[in-house]
Amino acid sequence: MSDERDRILGMGAKITRRDFLNGVAITAGAAMIPPEMWAAAAADLEPQNAAGYYPPAKTGLRGSHPGSFETMHQVRDGAFWDASAKAIDSGESYDLVVVGGGISGLTAAHYFRKAAGDKARVLILDNHDDFGGHAKRNEFRADNAFRLGFGGTYSIESPAPYSAVAKGLIEELGIDVPSYPKYVSKDLYRSLGLKPHIFFDKETFGSDKLVVNPARVGGDESGINAVSGEAELRAFLKDAPLSDKAKQDFQRLFTDKKDYFPGLSSDEKKARLARISYAKYLTDVVGVSDEVVKIFQSMPHPLFGFGIDAVPAQDAWGLDFPGFGGLNLDPSPGMGMNRDAIRSEAAEKYFFHFPDGNASIARLLVRKLNPAAIPGNSVTDIVLAKADYSKLDAASSPVRIRLNSTVVKVKHNGDPASAKNVDVTYAIGKTLKTVRAANCILACWHVVIPYIAPELPDAQKEALASAQKVPLLYNNVLLRNWTSFQKLGVNSVYCPSMYHAYVNLDLPVSMGGYECAKKPDEPIVVHMMKAACKPGHPSREQHKLGRIELYTTTFETYERNIREQLARMLGPGGFDPARDILEITVNRWPHGYAYEYNSLYDQFWLDGGETPCQVARKPFGRIAIANADADAYAYTDCAIDQGYRAVQELKQ
Ligand SMILES: Cc1cc2nc3c(=O)[nH]c(=O)nc-3n(C[C@H](O)[C@H](O)[C@H](O)COP(=O)(O)OP(=O)(O)OC[C@H]3O[C@@H](n4cnc5c(N)ncnc54)[C@H](O)[C@@H]3O)c2cc1C
Repeated sequence: MSDERDRILGMGAKITRRDFLNGVAITAGAAMIPPEMWAAAAADLEPQNAAGYYPPAKTGLRGSHPGSFETMHQVRDGAFWDASAKAIDSGESYDLVVVGGGISGLTAAHYFRKAAGDKARVLILDNHDDFGGHAKRNEFRADNAFRLGFGGTYSIESPAPYSAVAKGLIEELGIDVPSYPKYVSKDLYRSLGLKPHIFFDKETFGSDKLVVNPARVGGDESGINAVSGEAELRAFLKDAPLSDKAKQDFQRLFTDKKDYFPGLSSDEKKARLARISYAKYLTDVVGVSDEVVKIFQSMPHPLFGFGIDAVPAQDAWGLDFPGFGGLNLDPSPGMGMNRDAIRSEAAEKYFFHFPDGNASIARLLVRKLNPAAIPGNSVTDIVLAKADYSKLDAASSPVRIRLNSTVVKVKHNGDPASAKNVDVTYAIGKTLKTVRAANCILACWHVVIPYIAPELPDAQKEALASAQKVPLLYNNVLLRNWTSFQKLGVNSVYCPSMYHAYVNLDLPVSMGGYECAKKPDEPIVVHMMKAACKPGHPSREQHKLGRIELYTTTFETYERNIREQLARMLGPGGFDPARDILEITVNRWPHGYAYEYNSLYDQFWLDGGETPCQVARKPFGRIAIANADADAYAYTDCAIDQGYRAVQELKQ
């Protein structure tokens, strides 16, 4: 990249705390941990108790931020124990220690107290500098404007209806899901003439061009779904930089009523579709040109974290992707369908978005567990309430949340079948400490558990290790204004072959005194998502390679990609990246969504029978296992259900 291009992009601009540590070395260990953490640990202080400690306001490299993952990677690589000091016995003991302060861990703490009483002593340990797990809050300030963004979990939504337990918790927290329309400015973008678009890039399609999106695709987070009508299709075919053959193929996909599997029953057709990818279905069965396949390649990124090369055609049918109009398939789900691909009208209506996404759920849970840490008492005042991190681990609170603390060992004192307690050892900075717990819930990522709980049976450890997380990048960019979006008539953009597959204006929600951007000349948060995948490989391999990519990419590279993509897409609308980008927060989630089973790669999912997650979540002695991984379903309701189940499985 030339210096001149960098200057035009504004790479030198003073936007944000840059990530000088860069997070490049996956196994570099101690050298990566921020200096303030060493200082705090050396003084035997928890970093979260330092004056001014307030992670939601940090910009730069967030999500799995530097300092959060190095210890666990050292444990994984076998380099940790030889280099570490002896653990200090803290003398602390608890009725329950929860490993992982995401929604599952916070839920577990909540239900444990319901069962054991308000005086029960609970400690929650998390390796990040903030609580909430994936449900993280990003704050931005520009002149007089205050803006919120979701750093991970976007909303209450799930392909299947929430269970009675999950719905019960949402209601207990005071969230009135049906009241959502009161808070969203549903018609704001439409009233300004904005529509979802597709961005064709010159490297793949011959020219950079924004064209109105004629296909309802996943990923529109700003509140307007594309309309797939005849007029939209005609407009698209006129403007898209595609060959005549590709245009004919594209149209045929949406309109053709051909049965590509004559003579097969609906079930036989579904069985076939379950065993080929949508990409292969398009090329080998429907016979469309490569150009068309390229348009659809990244469409499922927000759902699965990979493209159509790894999405079974049966799932593509369930998700309403085009090309199945003539197959006359019975609408019921087929064997091996992914749970995301099974539609439920009731579930689709159950939607609620806080301005910081489901970080508000995490914050409401924390307020219930430790009211002194987050002021206020209503579901809407949570939006602007400022958490006092120094109170999260107060000795006076029955529930304590200790951040920056990576659990490295969980071990029963004696025979797991009869032991009365477990010792939980965690690293905070350079210090290792042990606490004692009558019960322990592992609400952390399942791939971590075999390393920290070596007592578990081998078959269970193998099942836990198979829960490969889906690597994702959720970038929030604060813009000075969104006049370029207005000039171009765009609210969201699907970019089949750019660095980020989806770019969305913030979903306009105002609540509890918080006001979203309503006028194009006001600052706004733009959300840019990327699935780090490697097309052509099996799903788990794609996730593994993508995870390495996310850990080894520098903030500078992330920033350049953000600036370059916005400049190319919005330049014709007057966007100047050097002038218009005010802040950047890169939310890097190498361990993102829970892995969901896929009929192309997981034979057991087609055959039926016990699944790896059912083996993985079995209780062992005084340890129970939660997290969304425990039901292989990447949604908040799953995290809640599994936290609840884990509590029921604890020994008395
Ligand atoms: C980018 C993104 C967007 C999402 N959007 C949605 C959405 O819109 N709606 C939805 O329903 N779901 C969404 N999800 C799914 C989300 O994962 C779940 O909704 C839910 O928040 C998961 O909660 P959890 O507690 O099971 O796991 P997590 O949130 O991952 O929490 C587990 C915690 O354990 C910690 N941990 C791991 N190892 C250790 C250790 N050794 N010691 C201490 N702590 C440890 C982790 O760092 C983490 O903080 C999204 C996920 C991602 C990544």
